Amino acid sequence: MADKPKLDERLLGFHQVNVLQKWTTQQFIDGMQRHGIGAVAIWRDRLREHGATEVARMLRGTGLQVLSLCAAGLIATPDPGEAASVIDEVKRAIDDAATIGAGSLMFVAGGVDPRDKSLESTRKRVLERVAGLTACARATGVRIALEPLHPMACGSRSVLSTVGIANDWCDALDAEDVFGIAVDTYAVWWDPDLPRELARAGKRICNFHIADWLADTQDLRLDRGMPGDGLIDIPGIRRMVEAAGYVGHREVEVFSARNWWQRDPDEVIGVVRERYQSAI
Ligand code: ZN
Repeated sequence: MADKPKLDERLLGFHQVNVLQKWTTQQFIDGMQRHGIGAVAIWRDRLREHGATEVARMLRGTGLQVLSLCAAGLIATPDPGEAASVIDEVKRAIDDAATIGAGSLMFVAGGVDPRDKSLESTRKRVLERVAGLTACARATGVRIALEPLHPMACGSRSVLSTVGIANDWCDALDAEDVFGIAVDTYAVWWDPDLPRELARAGKRICNFHIADWLADTQDLRLDRGMPGDGLIDIPGIRRMVEAAGYVGHREVEVFSARNWWQRDPDEVIGVVRERYQSAI
C-alpha cells in the first residue's frame, strides 16, 4: 500500500460511540478538540443525559462539525398504537438533530416482528411511515439518512438490508432533499450488487461509516474491528463511494465491547488517526 494517496485529515469523522463508555459528552468534545478532529457524530444514548439544548451549548464555539445524530427509527411494529409512539420519538430525534446542528439523523428501520413475519409487509409499513416524516424533516433542514444494516439484523434492528433497497425507497419517497443513504462498510461489504447500487445511489450517499469485519468476531453487533484489523476491502469501498460522487467525511464507527471500548479514549483516537491513513 506504499502508493496509497494521503487522505485529507479534515475529512476524518469520529463517532462518539467509539469512546461512548469511557467519556461523557463534555469529555468527548474536549478530546476531539485536543486531538484536532473537526467532525463528529453524536450518540443519542449520551444526548439524553443532558438534552439537546445543553449539548448544543457545549458544542457552541468549538468549531466542531456535527455530521449526524445516531440513531433513531425502529418503526417496524405491526401495532398501530406502538407505531404512533415510536414515530413521535423519531420526530423528537429530528428536532434534537436540528438543535445540535447535525447534518443528518441516522435512521434504522426496525426488524421483523413475531406478530407479522412477512418481510414484504414489514418493509412496506416502514416505507409508508418514513414517507410520513418528510414534512417534519424538511421543516428542520435535517436530512434523514436511511442506513441499511447487515441482513443479520433483519430480525432485530433493520429490514432495510441493502443499498439496493435503500435506493428503491428513495425512488419511492421522491424527496431527494430530505432523504439520503448512509453507507456503512460493516453492513454492506458482502453485497454482490454493491458496486452497481453505490453508483445508482450517487449523490444520495450522505454519510460513510467505516468499521472492519473481524475474522474471529465474537459478537456480530458489538465486536466490530478497527479499520485494518479485519477482512473488508475498505479502501475499495471508499473508492466506489467517492466515485459515485460522495465528497463528505470518512466516519470511523467501531462498536467494540470487548476491545476498543475498554481502552483509554486518547489511545483509541490515536489509533483511528493512524488507521485513517493506513487502512481507509
Ligand atoms: Zn453506521
